[in-house]
Amino acid sequence: MERLGRNRGGYFGERIDLDAVLADCAGAAATHGWTSEPLPPATTPRMAYRRAARTPGAPRLYVSAGMHGDEPAGPLAAARLLRENDWPEADLWLIPCLNPEGMRTGTRGNAQGVDLNRDYRNPQCAETLGHIEWLRQQPRFDLTLLLHEDWESHGFYTYEVNPGRARSLAPDIIAAAGTVCPVDPSPVIDGREISEPGILRPMITPEERPDWPEAFWLMANRGRLSYTLEAPSDWPLAVRAEALVRAVRAALRAFTQNGTPPAMPG
Ligand SMILES: [Zn+2]
Repeated sequence: MERLGRNRGGYFGERIDLDAVLADCAGAAATHGWTSEPLPPATTPRMAYRRAARTPGAPRLYVSAGMHGDEPAGPLAAARLLRENDWPEADLWLIPCLNPEGMRTGTRGNAQGVDLNRDYRNPQCAETLGHIEWLRQQPRFDLTLLLHEDWESHGFYTYEVNPGRARSLAPDIIAAAGTVCPVDPSPVIDGREISEPGILRPMITPEERPDWPEAFWLMANRGRLSYTLEAPSDWPLAVRAEALVRAVRAALRAFTQNGTPPAMPG
């Protein structure tokens, strides 16, 4: 598969018709019995979809996408996941697009140019405030998957947030994504040393960071196992969306088949 070589200094790849993708999400969610509610604020409508488990005690799984407007593969993957409706028995939450203004203009930040994924510690943006207000009304999640892309990367990779040292899902995620696109072979990705090819397990001390991403807020408030999935933007959009879909399915399968992973000693 050919690398496109388009992204020089930023993302210059394919775009999506966001309204069509979101309509696709809404239709599929309704067809398959999901409920929906808009995240505040009403001025930037964003839907959160929910499907309750049939059995009590089922794992609670949260998936979000579309935080960065120059990363269209996430919302496309969310639409596919809703349409194909192949989920484990679980309580499910899915937000297809957290930053619709950025997605419409194809820019990383929101309409004011703010990177929302640095705004979760002392939130200033209406989108972040609304998302957190909604999150505070939800229970804790057992697993959160955050769908992203990286225009600079040489292949797929994932960030693991796992302070409870649960069994890692990263090898399953990377193996699944690697069936459709390269895994980033770099020893250093995004300025951090890898722990295995395509897998970053950064030492996270949120209190030392002024600019929390969504993953840090979730770790501090709503869950202790999170994966940020980074598809490589220099490969075709359909390939990236497919890689994200496979990575999500692999993570959910590995997590639910093994039950809530036991904490490792140490
Ligand atoms: Zn991103």
